[in-house]
Amino acid sequence: MLHHPPEDARERDKPLAVNPFFGEADPLDGMREAPPRHRLPREPMAPHPAYQLVHDELMLDGNARLNLATFVTTWMEPQAGVLMSECLDKNMIDKDEYPRTAELERRCVAMLADLWHAPDARDAMGCSTTGSSEACMLAGMALKRRWTRKNKDRYPGGARPNLVMGINVQVCWEKFCDFWEVEARQVPMEGERYHLSPEAAVELCDENTIGVVGILGSTFDGSYEPIADLCAALDAFQERTGLDIPVHVDGASGGMIAPFLDPDVVWDFRLPRVASINTSGHKYGLVYPGVGWALWRDKAALPEELVFRVNYLGGELPTFALNFSRPGAQVVAQYYTFLRLGFEGYRAVQQSSRDVARGLAERIEAMGDFRMLTRGDELPVLAFTTTPDVTAYDVFDVSRRLRERGWLVPAYTFPKNREDLSVLRIVCRNGFSSDLADLLLGDLEDLLPALRAQPHPVTHSRERATAFHH
Ligand SMILES: *Cc1c(COP(=O)(O)O)cnc(C)c1O
Repeated sequence: MLHHPPEDARERDKPLAVNPFFGEADPLDGMREAPPRHRLPREPMAPHPAYQLVHDELMLDGNARLNLATFVTTWMEPQAGVLMSECLDKNMIDKDEYPRTAELERRCVAMLADLWHAPDARDAMGCSTTGSSEACMLAGMALKRRWTRKNKDRYPGGARPNLVMGINVQVCWEKFCDFWEVEARQVPMEGERYHLSPEAAVELCDENTIGVVGILGSTFDGSYEPIADLCAALDAFQERTGLDIPVHVDGASGGMIAPFLDPDVVWDFRLPRVASINTSGHKYGLVYPGVGWALWRDKAALPEELVFRVNYLGGELPTFALNFSRPGAQVVAQYYTFLRLGFEGYRAVQQSSRDVARGLAERIEAMGDFRMLTRGDELPVLAFTTTPDVTAYDVFDVSRRLRERGWLVPAYTFPKNREDLSVLRIVCRNGFSSDLADLLLGDLEDLLPALRAQPHPVTHSRERATAFHH
């Protein structure tokens, strides 16, 4: 989020409220003056009151376990927490100072290369990032650089590179295109198709296309895009035109679901056209926020000149990243989770999320008021809307009323050409048990009579903008 200090002077100058108990021996000691809110306090204060003030303020943040909007991990084992706190002081970039942390990163890359069927795991390249967004920036840059190398005679000076994707992409791809000056060519939704179709994608391709992004696990409804069909359509396009267009798979969520639950879905490096893949370690990778992964199938897919070698820290190690310094704890936690769960452990965790999602979908559908768009059969996500005969309330009313009971279930409108469609989305992830799902269903059932008795939908459009884009 982008912030600025409050505009109202009274609000800006209001000091923090301090409980006299927060002082140490004398209740007022060290707390004679309430600390300012938006200015750096002049004097230091003792650690206890400082801790208590920050702690109390954060109590008002939501309960992350009831947040069904986010894909991001909200529960890890205490052992993972201990390992992470042991590594809080480790800087990921300092690979010479922390060679073992760097080695664990390397092992994670190797495990993912193997999981995603890199043809020769020794040849695959990859790195950790702060999340999928950074990973997508890196993958997008590699695509753009490969294209500019091939088109030296036309760029710069005339040709404008473009990237083809479905309109359902996560906002990071719009950022990539804007920040790196690439035209975003988006396939709109059509009828019951809520993501890209291979034919529509190929129609947008030309000699200036740096790549096509396929999403394994659409943010809008949790559906998988047809990556294998997309690659086949691009093979045929190459036969017709001679243009060889690489595919990047945004597997932010699905990169850690499909290998375990859908081994027969071919979407990864088994497809020669797939040049690179990203995933969010902090989504279905099951690690607390702050880690993502980017992998390239081989050295040819990642132009050498994008990799920087720095020697200021001693040693000379190649890096490909947007940031320089970065915490090492998340990478350690990812390695711990890989080691702890193994393939079968991941399969069991993801299967139980899928079971919860399917169970919820079935029972919500049985209530009669809702039409399911997805039922947790791909990502453990369900998207649903009201049936046409429901006129007393809409999805925004449902979201608002559930929020009053502590549940965060976002409602949002679909993009072009389905702006007429608004849905609710529930993301099931590790920690959202079938017991919690029962409580949610109970609350939804309780709310329905009052919703059905409304004269018309009541949620003001101002309240409708619930963020869902995680
Ligand atoms: C969440 C998500 C992203 C962004 O990932 P972060 O790890 O939050 O930066 C990108 N693409 C898709 C499909 C996502 O679901």
